[in-house]
Amino acid sequence: MKILVINTGSSSLKYQLIDMTNEAVLAKGVCDRIGLEHSFLKHSRPGHDAVVIEKDLYNHKIAIQEVLNALTSKEIGVISSMDEISAVGHRVVHGGEKFKDAAIIDNSVMKAISDCIDLAPLHNPPNITGIEACKQIMPDIPMIAVFDTAFHQTMPEYAYIYALPYEIYEKYALRKYGFHGTSHKYVAERAAVMLGKPLSELKLITCHLGNGASICAVKNGKSVETSMGFTPLQGLAMGTRSGTIDPDVIKFLMDKEKMTIKDVSDFLNKKSGVLGVSGVSSDFRDIHTAADSGNSRAQLALDIFCYRVKRFIGDYMAVLNGADAVVFTAGIGENNDIIRRMVVAEMDNLGIKIDEQKNVQARGKEMDISVPDAKVRTLVIPTNEELAIAREAKKLLK
Ligand code: AMP
Repeated sequence: MKILVINTGSSSLKYQLIDMTNEAVLAKGVCDRIGLEHSFLKHSRPGHDAVVIEKDLYNHKIAIQEVLNALTSKEIGVISSMDEISAVGHRVVHGGEKFKDAAIIDNSVMKAISDCIDLAPLHNPPNITGIEACKQIMPDIPMIAVFDTAFHQTMPEYAYIYALPYEIYEKYALRKYGFHGTSHKYVAERAAVMLGKPLSELKLITCHLGNGASICAVKNGKSVETSMGFTPLQGLAMGTRSGTIDPDVIKFLMDKEKMTIKDVSDFLNKKSGVLGVSGVSSDFRDIHTAADSGNSRAQLALDIFCYRVKRFIGDYMAVLNGADAVVFTAGIGENNDIIRRMVVAEMDNLGIKIDEQKNVQARGKEMDISVPDAKVRTLVIPTNEELAIAREAKKLLK
């Protein structure tokens, strides 16, 4: 059984073709900088050098077509035709309250995902584009949706109910949902392996720091609190998203800038975050380059990002009454030692202290980067949402 997993983010698209008989990855890759300059597809197969195809990836549909071309290509492909694929597992960001588990995609599931666009305006549209493009090319292959919201369904009521009149929750299911659940769950499971203890006995703070970013408090293997909310806009400052702000800023912006409510939503979702503060880019590599050449707003954007991550870690140390480990994952968390150093600086009184040499060495590989006597371990763990999604898809196919 071969399962193709599609993980469509706001500016990237990761894919893996996994042989589920042994969970071996047959091919994997990433389309990066989608919708930005210098976009490319990086395709790799075990035992071969990765191939980088520079291509204008104007949107996600073009990106998926390129992925399918690569998988079936005579030169760099791993299957002769699409018929070898048993199912396609799609990461879908927001399932509202409807989806507590993964689902086989039919028309009603498609409609339910579309109904959630307002809740995840940056993510559900590319997810839908991904599903539709695959359905057009592979109409007879089952498609499975795995939702980012599912893992956080274990949060206690006092964590997910906003302090608004309760009727508004009853009427609209307006509450905190949380996202990146597949990733938080996967890295929590890996952390337990690295720490040599059962997940059911651990308190973990998992930091998924990518273009979208969230933090999760995981107690005994269950999400008990997370930084994103009703939508993926809440919490940390992100690539283009503001994260948490005073809600009255919305009224102020509408008054002063003559914005409509849609304008404000676009402003907060697409023009804010480190892009908005720096005025440079939503991509941390670009922001570092600018900061290194003296751009003070780029440096400020980095400082704001790291300060917020630090504050959430402190918050969750209180929620969990201490933690066994802080885990860094996703594009920034896995690869960016500067951000990791800035985040955990001066947290030694809380038991968090990293070995700078190990920190620099940890790039895209599992590593404990703490000093030997640190009470709270700091772990770098590459996420593997694709494998987690493929397992869910396999379970549903059965
Ligand atoms: P993601 O959404 O998880 O794909 O993460 C995207 C973010 O990760 C972007 O801001 C990138 O700049 C950052 N990123 C990815 N790879 C690296 C790297 N090798 N070094 C620094 N930042 C990186």
